[in-house]
Amino acid sequence: MSQVQCFPSGPFETNAYLLTCRETNKGVFIDPAPGSAEALIDASGGVEVEAILLTHSHWDHIGDVKKLKGSFDIPVYVHKSDRPNVVKPGSDTLPLMIPIEGVEPEFELKEGQIISVGHLELQVIETPGHTPGGVCFYIEKEKILFAGDTLFKGSIGNLSLPTANRVEMWRSLEKLEKLPPETVVYSGHGPSTTIGDESWLPRAREIFN
Ligand SMILES: [Zn+2]
Ligand SMILES: [Zn+2]
Repeated sequence: MSQVQCFPSGPFETNAYLLTCRETNKGVFIDPAPGSAEALIDASGGVEVEAILLTHSHWDHIGDVKKLKGSFDIPVYVHKSDRPNVVKPGSDTLPLMIPIEGVEPEFELKEGQIISVGHLELQVIETPGHTPGGVCFYIEKEKILFAGDTLFKGSIGNLSLPTANRVEMWRSLEKLEKLPPETVVYSGHGPSTTIGDESWLPRAREIFN
C-alpha cells in the first residue's frame, strides 16, 4: 500500500511529493520543488527515504534537490536527456526565477525500468514533449501515475518552451491514454485526476496543437 503526500511549493506551486510504502516505511521524494525541503523533511519523519526521483529537470521541479540530497545522502534519478539541467540549472535556457544549485545525478531513468520502493514498483514511462527527458512513474498494482508536467487535470504541459517538442508530446499522451481509466494521476501542478476523467486525451492533438 502506498501513501502519497503532496506539497505545492515555489513560485509556480509545483507539487513536491513524498511517496511511501506503508508496509516497509521506505519512501522517495519526487520533484522537490523550490521551498519544499522543510515540509518534505517534516513529513518524512520515520520514513527511510531512499532516493530523489525527477519527472523532468525544469528548475521549479528540482529547486531543493541539493538540500535534500545533502541532508539524506541519497541518490538522484533523472532521464539522460534532462540530466544537463540538473547538473547546471539554467542550461536549458529557461530563466531561473530564483538561484538553484546543481547536483550530479547518480542514475539515469529509462523506459521500462522498475524502481522498487519497499514493496512498491515504479515503472518508468518515457514521456518526452514538455522536455526531451520527461518521464512518468507508474505503479501498476496501485493504479497510480506521477505525471510531472506531461498531463494535468484538464490540460497538458507547456509546449512553447525552448526544448519542447509537439510531435513527441502527442506520442507520449497516447501512451498515457492507454493506462486503466481508474489510474489516479498526480501531476506536477494542480489537483490530482484520473486517466478516465481526462476523456479528452484521445483528442489532445486537435485541442492543444
Ligand atoms: Zn516543466
Ligand atoms: Zn512545472
